[in-house]
Formats: sequence, C-alpha cells, structure tokens
Amino acid sequence: MTLIPPPKAMSDDELRSEVRAWLKDNWKGLPVSQDQWTSSPERRAWMEKVVDARWAVNRWPVEWFGRGLSDPQAKIVEEEFRAARALGAGLDKSQLYAITALAFGTDVMKNHVLKGILTGNVNMCLLYSEPGAGSDLAGVRTRAVRDGDDFVVNGQKVWTSGAMTADYGMLIARTDWDVPKHNGISFFFLPMKQKGVEVRPLRQVTDESHFNEVFFTDARVPAEFLLGGLNNGWRVLQTALAYERSVMGDGARGPRRGDDKASTDMIALAREAGKLNDPLVRQDLAKVLSYRKLNALNNARAKADLATGTSSPIMSLGKLAMSRILHEEARLRTTLLGAGSMLEGDAHPRADDANFLALNAYFTSIGGGTDQIQRNIIGERVLGLPKEPEVDRTIPFKDVRAG
Ligand SMILES: Cc1cc2nc3c(=O)[nH]c(=O)nc-3n(C[C@H](O)[C@H](O)[C@H](O)COP(=O)(O)OP(=O)(O)OC[C@H]3O[C@@H](n4cnc5c(N)ncnc54)[C@H](O)[C@@H]3O)c2cc1C
Repeated sequence: MTLIPPPKAMSDDELRSEVRAWLKDNWKGLPVSQDQWTSSPERRAWMEKVVDARWAVNRWPVEWFGRGLSDPQAKIVEEEFRAARALGAGLDKSQLYAITALAFGTDVMKNHVLKGILTGNVNMCLLYSEPGAGSDLAGVRTRAVRDGDDFVVNGQKVWTSGAMTADYGMLIARTDWDVPKHNGISFFFLPMKQKGVEVRPLRQVTDESHFNEVFFTDARVPAEFLLGGLNNGWRVLQTALAYERSVMGDGARGPRRGDDKASTDMIALAREAGKLNDPLVRQDLAKVLSYRKLNALNNARAKADLATGTSSPIMSLGKLAMSRILHEEARLRTTLLGAGSMLEGDAHPRADDANFLALNAYFTSIGGGTDQIQRNIIGERVLGLPKEPEVDRTIPFKDVRAG
C-alpha cells in the first residue's frame, strides 16, 4: 500500500460514508487474540493500511499522513472506527512519540521515523530519568556535545521502560552547562541500536522486567534529530510530559492474566464474594466507579485544552486521580477477598490479580512524575499557590552542588 493522494474537502455525511465503506472493505475483525494483537505482524500490517488511507491522524496536515480535518470531523472518523470495533484512528490525540515528533521535529527526522512510529514498526522509549534526576528532571547530567553533523552523548538513564526493544529514545541531555538548569537542556530522538548504547534490565516488585538502566558511551545522534532547537529541550519536554500524563490518567493495566473480564469487574467480584448487598461494600463500589467516571470527564476536558496547543496542568489532576483510583480499587479487592487475598499463583487467580494490581498501582503513582509532584503542579499552576523555593533555579548549572 502507498499513501492515498490528499483527499478533497467533504461534508460530514460524505466523510461518514467514505470511512464506513473503507472499513467494510478492509476490516474483518481482530485476526488474532487481543493479547497477541499488540505486538503482532497483523497489527503492523493493519496499521500500514490505516496510515496509508490517512485515517490514523485525521487532524494532521496532508503532508504528514493526515487529512487536515477539524476536530468534529475527526471525531466522525473515530466514531465509525469504534462502531466497527476497528483500531488505529485517533493517534493524533494519543501517540505521544508521534505527536512530539510532529510538533517539534525537523522534516528530515519526520521523514525518517514518523510513519514507522504510527504503524508500530519503530519502537520508542523515554530517556528522561537519571539516578540523580527524577522528579527534578531539569537536573539531568547526561551530556550531548556537538561533533560535526552529530552530537556525541555520554551519561546514564534509569527506569527506562521498553529500552530493550526500542529503536529510538526521546532523550533529554545537557548541552550548555554555563546557563541555569532549565535553559541548557536539549531534546533528541536518539537511535538506540548502536555500539555506544548499553541496556541493562531491572527487576520489579511484580517480578516483571519492563524497565532498564541505559548507559551511553560516545553514542551518536544526528543533529537533524534535535527537536525544538538547541537548549530549548525544556519546552519540548513539558508538552511531551503533559501527553504522557494524559495517557496515564486515562487508564492503567488490568490484571496480569489479561482476558478474564470478571476479575476486572469489581461488581462481579463483589457478587462472587457474596458481598454485593453489604452496605459498606456498596458505598465503596459506588465511590470507585464514580471516581473513574469523573476522571474520564476531567481527562476529556484536559485533552480539549491540549488540542488548542496549551500544555494543560489539568493532566496532573487526571493522573493523580487515576493513582488514587487504582490504590482504592486494590484496597477494595483485598477487602472483598478477605484472608484469601494473601494467596498467589495460578490456582488462585482472583487473589493473584488482587496482589498484582495492588503492587502495580505504584506504576501510576510514580511513573511520569510522582503523586507529590502532581500535587505541586496542581498547587502552583491550577490553584495559583506560591512556588516552592528553588535555590538552584537561577545559577549556572555547572555551579549547582550535587551529592
Ligand atoms: C512504572 C514506571 C515506569 C517508568 N518509566 C520511565 C521511562 O520510561 N523513562 C524515564 O525516563 N523514567 C521512567 N520512570 C521514572 C519516573 O519518572 C521517576 O521514578 C519519577 O519521576 C520519580 O523520580 P525518582 O524515582 O528519581 O524519585 P525522586 O525524584 O528521587 O523522589 C523521591 C521521593 O521524593 C518526593 N519528592 C521529590 N521532589 C519533591 C518535591 N519537590 N516536592 C515533594 N516531594 C518530592 C517524590 O514524590 C518521591 O516520593 C518510570 C517509573 C515507573 C515507576
């Protein structure tokens, strides 16, 4: 398949008919199970078709796989995809890496990676956190130094999800040590499959290994893969982080075994435990279910802000709320299962799920910025409270004391 020519402007009805007809001709339902789909060749083949037909990123300009549609028209396309239970539309609102590349990348870089990110042929990771810079990302010490047409990168990242399989990483590195910390950072798409990049997996409390340490020793990144200009990385990062928070605020992983609907359904679990008529359990159920609903509405509001080009602090509210919801749900699951919740393993699937979800709830309360940091953002940027004192904000970074 190749990209179809730029489409002509259409009425809402014409657009709806076109997308419906295209889906009827092309989408025959999931060819493999939901679990296998995410990393399957079938998914990549399908996404090639969706991107080439310009349905994946409708709001984007025609020169970058889009149709330049207004938000209401793009929603028509997404509605039709949903109605057909087809996947792949709406990436212009959810694909963090592609959104960042489109907003800040050079044309050379976009030509190189954008389609692959949209189709899933290019895997990505986030190279932000370091042993000495997590909540305070402006304190990164990984350095990038210009050398001809490239930058040369040295340093270390940590907690990098998906680094083992990533083709590129969104990297923040220090490019100027003589200015205050926020002003000397640049943002790159770093090629991961090269000699100067070493990835070492870390083991998590859930016994999984999703994240890694990443070491750079004279790793190279082309200057054309610098986003947003030299020393302007902090601004690029703020937009990328806001999108990440919105994704984390929208939802979180279900149980490890995945396809067991009843175990994800709190009401079914309460019924199974014979506690559905318990007034306290009902109160708790109503609380967590209404938190989820409210949070979905708040996130829709925040996404509308982002679509207008503002990096919305309301994203922090959604992410913080999701963190609280996951911990509340974990507590309620444990209450419903009673002492049985201490069991583990395949013979005790409900308890195993409850344990996994309780431990995994920390994913959302730490990853993408901790709960405390979200509270700071809400305090300062939503409620207008005075800023936290920052003694190192205005001095050259080379003079900042580090332990
Ligand atoms: C599941 C998961 C996936 C992740 N994936 C990635 C990834 O792909 N790429 C990546 O770069 N990073 C990733 N991270 C790292 C994550 O972003 C950091 O762990 C997080 O930002 C916190 O940084 P830190 O661990 O260095 O803790 P620190 O910043 O050292 O914080 C320690 C404690 O101090 C508190 N604290 C710190 N500063 C303040 C303050 N100013 N006010 C109040 N309290 C404060 C924190 O809330 C926390 O409780 C991931 C983390 C998790 C859990």
